Amino acid sequence: MTTLASRLAAVDGSIARAARSAGRDAGAITRIVVTKFHPVALVRALHGLGVRDIAENRQQELTAKRGELTDLDDMSWHFVGQVQTKKARAVRREATVVHSVDREKLVRALDEPGADPLDVLVQINLTDDPARGGVAPAEAARLAEAIADAESLRLRGVMAVAPLDEHPAAAFERLAHCAERVRGVDPAATWISAGMSQDFAEAIAHGATHLRIGTAITGPRPSQD
Ligand SMILES: *Cc1c(COP(=O)(O)O)cnc(C)c1O
Repeated sequence: MTTLASRLAAVDGSIARAARSAGRDAGAITRIVVTKFHPVALVRALHGLGVRDIAENRQQELTAKRGELTDLDDMSWHFVGQVQTKKARAVRREATVVHSVDREKLVRALDEPGADPLDVLVQINLTDDPARGGVAPAEAARLAEAIADAESLRLRGVMAVAPLDEHPAAAFERLAHCAERVRGVDPAATWISAGMSQDFAEAIAHGATHLRIGTAITGPRPSQD
């Protein structure tokens, strides 16, 4: 039987190898475990194995899980799903980092002057389909400027999902160019959130600093409904 602990160790071993072959320090890469659709017991088990970065993609699920896990006060909660404008305040309340800021209207909805700064990333759409989440690469710097101007948001970098119909390396190369332009807005915005179960080695080769890994660690997700 493959256990959670052995899958986590195997993924961490692969991350270390990919970092080494890219000439990078694995210690500078944050491995986030995506637990969407899984029960809180799984999050608790991951915490017991030393995981301190968890990601969710739906506001209600994030809020419910945090409500049941208030004792895990050293966990960072990453929000990686599309944020509806009317849910922005609820996401802000529960998330440590929001990876999926993709429009100025959402920047305004997330900004809460006077509150502690919230870490956010500009989500880049690497496909030609405008219906997918993220801003077009050409719009990334402008959105980054809007974030930099928002009093209670801290621009950290960029996030993307590789398109299904393209080799991930090519997509991550475009993302690296976007990341450079966003660093032109704020040199401290150095995070690149990229790489999932199937493509994290390529993402590491192209500079990813934050990996969002689900099924390779958790096993298959329970049915969504
Ligand atoms: C679900 C999800 C992941 C993890 O995907 P896996 O293929 O299970 O590793 C990463 N990023 C986002 C935005 C997701 O929604």
